[in-house]
Amino acid sequence: MVEEIEDHAIILLDKEGNVETWNKGAEKIKGYLAGEIIGKNFRTFYSDTDRQLDLPTRLLNEASTTGSACHEGWRIRKDGSRFWGDITITAVHDESGEVTGFAKITRDLTERTQSERTIKKHLQELETRNKELEQFVYIASHDLQEPLLNVNNFVELLQHEYAPQLDETAAMYLDVINQSTERMRDLIKGLLDYARLGKEKYLSTVDCHQLVGTLVKDLATNIALSGAEIQCADLPTLAAYPVELRQLFQNLIGNAIKFRKLDTAPQISISAERADRFWKFAVRDNGIGINPAFKDKIFLIFRRLHGRDTYDGNGIGLAHCKKIVEMHGGEITVESKPGEGSTFFFTIPNVDLQSH
Ligand code: ADP
Repeated sequence: MVEEIEDHAIILLDKEGNVETWNKGAEKIKGYLAGEIIGKNFRTFYSDTDRQLDLPTRLLNEASTTGSACHEGWRIRKDGSRFWGDITITAVHDESGEVTGFAKITRDLTERTQSERTIKKHLQELETRNKELEQFVYIASHDLQEPLLNVNNFVELLQHEYAPQLDETAAMYLDVINQSTERMRDLIKGLLDYARLGKEKYLSTVDCHQLVGTLVKDLATNIALSGAEIQCADLPTLAAYPVELRQLFQNLIGNAIKFRKLDTAPQISISAERADRFWKFAVRDNGIGINPAFKDKIFLIFRRLHGRDTYDGNGIGLAHCKKIVEMHGGEITVESKPGEGSTFFFTIPNVDLQSH
């Protein structure tokens, strides 16, 4: 049976490490036929460096004293090519307990190791790119603030020092410039907040029920003005980034109030369901709804479906929400029927706070 096994090299070595038996797996992984290798020492499979470091002897010694030795590393085939081996050496004893030799099992993990390495490399590249991009947004938006401040200052000077010389149209033009720079300031602030989001994040235990309760109190004026009714089911306590999670709920509840139908008071319900490895939250409203064609686009930064004259905003809220949910390792989606309301779903994985 051992001889026929193809995906594991299973061989016996004598006390010095000389090969005594050879199976099909060994032939396939290491490239030698039984006749070519039996009687030779297993050190043949090791690189010069590993031999200089005495790795083969150390493994045999470890197996002799502790019963077995495990190791993963590069080994050499007959044709000189390398493979990544996962090796277990077990000592074989006689009746009196003396070590008489070793059983050695080798698995070829080259492909797995290489794909793991490729994935790791891609991940590292992605992380670097992401950091560069965030840095770029941060610097760009930071630097944009300065000339804007200049424009503001000089408009103010014109308004104050030249007021008598300005006719009504000129004053109106200056007002428009002021409104635009104010809006630009808001956009830049949003962009900066977006870039900063998650820079210093602290995972801690968050009681979502309490968090939403406080939020509803903070939004009291907005809620009273719109006549909104907010129902909150029993929400879980979980490991999350508290500041960011609060912002997530605030944006979703804020939108549910903002995008209400003209003649209908907002009815908002917040709930959570536990799935296998995550919590799935839902924030449901009875507002204007979203055309399904735009259900992905609305999560992009600065994407809005309405003019600011109908609904105020700058299109950053949902981009923030997406980033926050993804920071937690979850996903955010929306289901909606135009004219009837929308439900935003997001998941937060159940993580063990201890492991962070
Ligand atoms: P803002 O609220 O500043 O417009 P968001 O990023 O929060 O920006 O939202 C993007 C767009 O998604 C909104 O302009 C709106 O068209 C749509 N939207 C978001 N939430 C809702 C909702 N609860 N009901 C209907 N439309 C919504």
